[in-house]
Amino acid sequence: MTHQKPAGLPDKIQLFIDGEFVDAQDGATFDVIEPVSNEVYITAASAGKADVDLAVAAAKRAFDEGPWPKMLPRERSRILHRVADIVESRDEQLALLESWDSGLPITQAKGQARRAAENFRFFADLIVAEHDNVTKVPGRQINYVNRKPKGVAGLITPWNVPFMQESWKLAPAIATGNTVVLKPASYTPLSAALWPEIFREAGVPDGVFNLILGSGGVAGDALVKHPDVPLISFTGDSSTGAMISTNAAPLLKGLSLELGGKSPSIVFADADLEEALDATVFSVFSLNGERCTAGSRVLVERSIYDDFVARYAERAKNIVIGLPSDPATEVGALVHPSHFEKVMSYVELGKGEGRLVAGGGRPEGFPEGNYVAPTVFADVRPDARIFQEEIFGPVVAITPFDTDEEALELANDTKYGLAAYVWTSNLKRAHNFANGIESGMVWLNSNNVRDLRTPFGGVKASGLGREGGYRSVDFYTTAQSIQITLNEAHSPRFGAGGK
Ligand code: NDP
Repeated sequence: MTHQKPAGLPDKIQLFIDGEFVDAQDGATFDVIEPVSNEVYITAASAGKADVDLAVAAAKRAFDEGPWPKMLPRERSRILHRVADIVESRDEQLALLESWDSGLPITQAKGQARRAAENFRFFADLIVAEHDNVTKVPGRQINYVNRKPKGVAGLITPWNVPFMQESWKLAPAIATGNTVVLKPASYTPLSAALWPEIFREAGVPDGVFNLILGSGGVAGDALVKHPDVPLISFTGDSSTGAMISTNAAPLLKGLSLELGGKSPSIVFADADLEEALDATVFSVFSLNGERCTAGSRVLVERSIYDDFVARYAERAKNIVIGLPSDPATEVGALVHPSHFEKVMSYVELGKGEGRLVAGGGRPEGFPEGNYVAPTVFADVRPDARIFQEEIFGPVVAITPFDTDEEALELANDTKYGLAAYVWTSNLKRAHNFANGIESGMVWLNSNNVRDLRTPFGGVKASGLGREGGYRSVDFYTTAQSIQITLNEAHSPRFGAGGK
């Protein structure tokens, strides 16, 4: 199989503001590379503050004067289902572009397109079914919740599984009647450039969706600091999240922060070990290991440790590395040479911190491109940097434990708290252990299977707030409380001279 440009690449990637494709005001562009050759294959418009101002102004106009926020939920829902239909019908093309731009194996990129469509269907259905509490104090008062969109939502997304992550924010933000400005990651702008046509074709009015591209420190920053953007939903690195939190604070913006992770997979001796092996290998090596919820620390009960490590290493060595476009590929190329350098530096660091049992550098036969062999370190101590820090690549640290207490201590011994996976056939242990884990999400005897109704998000350095199901509706709307008296107003009569 040869590395070939997919058909249908645009000549350049532009911003999309108020229903029009436009270049940056000052004509600035940035180069986009693809991760197998690391060659520039396209340029994208690089938005500055002036472009962000235009995008926000368009979104604000569409919110204040346009039909979108006032439409019946059923009308918006129909349009969003059309968005999902179009995304699904372009599954093939989308997967090809996503895989080309990000290095994701093609089979896994296809799954992401389907999930993106599902995000739109889910929120299209939810807004029609959505209802709020009415409370009554008999004979005195009725109270109800008047749910309103907030205005212009600023959506800032990372480069891993970009199209799907964008859909995870776009769908609830738009479904609930907001208008949006999306700022995708600069490493992977290609699939984001598909949204304008998709929304246009589905019948989303001009100005509801606006796309800006360009540096996070410039375009992203201008969006975060813009006074007409009352809420920011951000997914990315914990340090960027902290900075955004500081920058948004003076304007008291609504913030949802989905940040990094160093999630544990805990394998007890009484688990179904075949299932645990499948899931723990998949968890850290799927999506090239560029996954926020990756189980990148595997904690294994001592009595099965040696055997489990040996089998884990065997699996890692057998993983098929290849061109992202090859359907046989299980691990492709990392997104960008800078990220490749970062991951490789952890691989080198790990050689002094753990026992290398698989991988450990560039895979054989891949002298170029951002390829890292699936790498397994065993006997990793909890104070090791490869145990503590998010690597975000195909690198895993395995550590033994002797007791439940020790396993829990190890599981919680990082600054992160996004996900955790527990493998045991002991029901009581599973629930008690889950309760003790400091993480936003726990999967018991399961890999990362999402139910879109459940809350998604982390604790500690992994984030702030929850999205998913009604939590997304809550984040993207104001729940205005309306009180009606059913009787006399009963106000104390100030200034009435006691009469
Ligand atoms: P970054 O934090 O570097 O970037 C994320 C986005 O923020 C990009 O669009 C970036 O733009 C933008 N950005 C950067 N600086 C600023 C700024 N000062 N103000 C506003 N926006 C800014 O993360 P990565 O793209 O490197 O993504 C990987 C990270 O995302 C990992 O840590 C991973 O764990 C996390 N992640 C978390 C998930 C979760 O749900 N918890 C899910 C997926 C990923 P630009 O690209 O131009 O730099």
